[in-house]
Amino acid sequence: MKHKLFYKPPGLPEKLIRLLFPAKCMVCDRILIENSVLYICPSCKKSLPKYERGFVKNFEVQLVDKLFAGFYYKEGMETAIHTMKFNNHPRLTQTMSMLLWEELIKEESIPRFDCIVPVPMYSKKKRQRGYNQTELLAKQLSVLSGVEMRTGLLLKNRMTKPQSRLKRKERLENLKGAFSLGKGSEYLEGKHVLLVDDVVTTGTTLTTCAKILREQGVCSVYAIVIAIA
Ligand SMILES: [Zn+2]
Repeated sequence: MKHKLFYKPPGLPEKLIRLLFPAKCMVCDRILIENSVLYICPSCKKSLPKYERGFVKNFEVQLVDKLFAGFYYKEGMETAIHTMKFNNHPRLTQTMSMLLWEELIKEESIPRFDCIVPVPMYSKKKRQRGYNQTELLAKQLSVLSGVEMRTGLLLKNRMTKPQSRLKRKERLENLKGAFSLGKGSEYLEGKHVLLVDDVVTTGTTLTTCAKILREQGVCSVYAIVIAIA
């Protein structure tokens, strides 16, 4: 599967915003050149730790057929993801999706997907943050790939603790009953689904989501993440 890169230059509203708030690199915070499409400077972009393994079976991430990671969760990527999550700026998710897309289209063969499903965020948390970065990422990937994104099929029912801070046993406990199917989930039967998340640390979140999707008759579950820890 060969795809073209798709970089949309900043439009007028964004140019005006940039007059007041100059665009900065999401890794080193340096001010970028005026028409910079990505929120990352060329030198930080070049030194990002690429994963370069394609879609592979990751035995840590059970129930997921194959996983694609763009980068390792270290060096500049850690900072970039942190900026994307906590600096309320949708364009940062766009930069991230383009970086991920650039890695993805290097692949000779990409599995066929019927839909892209973002790992959901608890509604209250989404309201507090103003956005779900994973959903924005999935939306961008949907635009770039032409595969439709489906939200609301998978729901998060409550707040959970960050998985990275827990021990293996606690992680499962933390996610117990945290996800469920939403309205219209019959659609999933027999489908090939691409789950999207920002970072995979232990894989428990992806496995939990994959389990629910499989119980609904999903044919295959692939996953794509920006970075792997
Ligand atoms: Zn930089």
